[in-house]
Amino acid sequence: MGLQAWIDLLLFFILFALFIYIFVTVTITKLHKVYLTFHFAMMIWPYSQFVIKTIDNPGYQLLYVKLAFVDSAVITAGWLYFTILITGQIQFLRRKIWAWLLLPTLVALLGILVNPHGLFVLPVNGGYVERIYGPIFWFYICILVLYPIASLYMIYLALASGRTPRKKQQIMLMLKGLVAVTALLLLDIFLNVVLSDYLPVIPGMTSLGILISAIFFVISINRDKVLDIVTIAHQDIIDTMAYGILVLDDNECVVEINQSLRPYLNLHIGDRFNIAALFPQGALSPNDFLHTYREHPLKDCEIEVYYPKYRRYLHVHAAAIMVGGTMIGRIITFQDISEMRRLLDETSHQNIVLQERNESLIEVQKELYQTNRKLKKIAITDSLTGCYNRHYLTQKLEDELMKPSIFQRPFAIILLDIDYFKSVNDNYGHLAGDEVICHTVEVIKGTLREADVLARYGGEEFIIYLPDTDESLAQLLAEEIKANVESNAVIIEHVVHPISVTISMGLLTIQNYPEELHQDPKTLLNELFKAVDKALYQAKHEGRNRIVSLVQ
Ligand code: GH3
Ligand code: MG
Ligand code: MG
Repeated sequence: MGLQAWIDLLLFFILFALFIYIFVTVTITKLHKVYLTFHFAMMIWPYSQFVIKTIDNPGYQLLYVKLAFVDSAVITAGWLYFTILITGQIQFLRRKIWAWLLLPTLVALLGILVNPHGLFVLPVNGGYVERIYGPIFWFYICILVLYPIASLYMIYLALASGRTPRKKQQIMLMLKGLVAVTALLLLDIFLNVVLSDYLPVIPGMTSLGILISAIFFVISINRDKVLDIVTIAHQDIIDTMAYGILVLDDNECVVEINQSLRPYLNLHIGDRFNIAALFPQGALSPNDFLHTYREHPLKDCEIEVYYPKYRRYLHVHAAAIMVGGTMIGRIITFQDISEMRRLLDETSHQNIVLQERNESLIEVQKELYQTNRKLKKIAITDSLTGCYNRHYLTQKLEDELMKPSIFQRPFAIILLDIDYFKSVNDNYGHLAGDEVICHTVEVIKGTLREADVLARYGGEEFIIYLPDTDESLAQLLAEEIKANVESNAVIIEHVVHPISVTISMGLLTIQNYPEELHQDPKTLLNELFKAVDKALYQAKHEGRNRIVSLVQ
C-alpha cells in the first residue's frame, strides 16, 4: 500500500479517537452510551462482511473475520443488557452476575482472536472469503445460542410477573426482535456453514436479522422515549441534588440510587433493599413506620432517623410509584435535617434559658415592688403612732395647694399639742408617755372622717388636714376631738390610775382666700403653718384645753 493510504488510515484512527473521547466525556446517560455502542456494533457486522468479500489480502480478510466475531459478541451482550433493562430484571445487572454472564463469551473471543492452529477458522483457496470453521467457532456459536435463551427466560419472567400493558407491549417488541435475529443467525449458520457444500451461499442473512432487531429497537425507543432528553435532565438533577434518592422496583430491588445517598448506604443497582437495615443498631425500633411500610405500601410514611456514626439526622420519606393505579415500585427520599435540628435545639434551649431568666426577673421585680411599698410606707409613717409623719403631710398639702380648685371650696388645718405632757413623762415614765401618745392618736383617728389626714408634727404635736370643710364644721370637729381626748382615760399596766390628758388646738380655716394672693405652695404653706402655730400658742397662753380659731 502506498503512503497515501496509510495517511488516510491514520486520519481515520485520529477521527475515531476523537469520537471515543467525545463519547466518553460528553454528559449523556449510561443508557445512551450503551445504546450507541450497541447500535455501532450492529453496523460493524454487515460492514465487516462487505470488506471481507471485497479485499484480496488474506491477512486483512482474517482481521475482518475476527472483527466481525468480536462485534457479534458486543451485539449479543448489548441484547442481553437491553433485555434485562426493559424487562426490569435488574438483579441480573449486578456486577458479579454480569461478569459471570459474559465470561464464556470472553473465553471464546480469546480463542477467536488467537486462532491457535486454525482452530477457529482456516482459509479456503488461500483466502477467507470462503472458510472452514473449527471447534472454537462451534463453541462460540453454542454460547451465542445460550444468550437468546437467557433473554427469552427473562422475557418470560417479566411477562409472568404481570406488568402494565405498556410495559408488556415493549417487552413483546423486544421478543420479536430477538426471535428475528436468532432465527436468521441460526438459519445463516445452517444454510451457509452446515450445508455450504450442497447449497449456494445466501448472503446477508445475519445482517438482515440484525437490521430487523435494530428496527424493533428504534420503534421501542421512539415510542417510549427511552433516550428522551428529559430523562437525561432528570438524571442530572437526581445526581446533583442534596436529597438522597432511592428508587426500588416492586421486588424491593434498587433501580436507582443517587450520589448524595452513596456515602450513607452501601447499595448498588440490583441489590435487594431491606428497610429495617436503615435504622442503626440499638436504635428504637420504629414499629409504626415499618408496619406502614410493609403492610400499607400505598401509604406514604416518614420518619426521622439519627445516625450516631455520622452524627446526622435524616428525614426519611417513602412513597409508592404508581402507574395506571398499580404500584410499580417505591421512591424513598432522605433529607439531611441535622442543621435544622441543631438550630431548633439551640433555639428551644435559648428559649428555656430566657424563660428562666424572665421568671427570676419577674420574681425580683415582685420583691422590689414589695420592698418599695414597704419603704414608701416607712418613709411616710410615724414609727411610734403609725399615723402619717410631718414630711408626708407637708408634701400632701403642697400637692393640694398646687391644684387650682383648692380655693373654690373651704378647708381647714388643725395644729394640736398635748397639755403638760412633760409631767406625764415625769410622773409615769417615758414608756407610759409613749402609750398615752398612741392612745390619743387612736381617739383622734376615730373621730376623723375618711378624707381627713392626721400626721405627727413632732414630739406630742399633731397636725390635721380637713379638706372641703368650712369654719363651723371644722370648729365642730375640733370640739369633738378635744372632748373625746379629754374623756379618754388611758389604762396602763403597773400604773395605778388611768391617765387623762387634754389638748390645745390652733384651728385655721381657709374660707375665701383671694386668688390673686396665690404664691408658690411652699411659701403659702409656711404662712399657713405660721398662722396655725400662732393660734395654738394663743390657746396655750389662754390656759390650755381650748381651741383658738382663725379664718382666712
Ligand atoms: P405645754 O402644755 O406647754 O405643751 O407643756 P408641755 O409639758 O407639754 O411642754 P412641751 O410641749 O414643750 O413639751 C413636750 C414634752 O413631751 C417634752 C418631751 O419630753 C415630751 N415628748 C416629746 N416627744 C415625746 C415622745 O415621743 N415620747 C414621750 N414619752 N415624750 C415625748
Ligand atoms: Mg405639750
Ligand atoms: Mg409640745
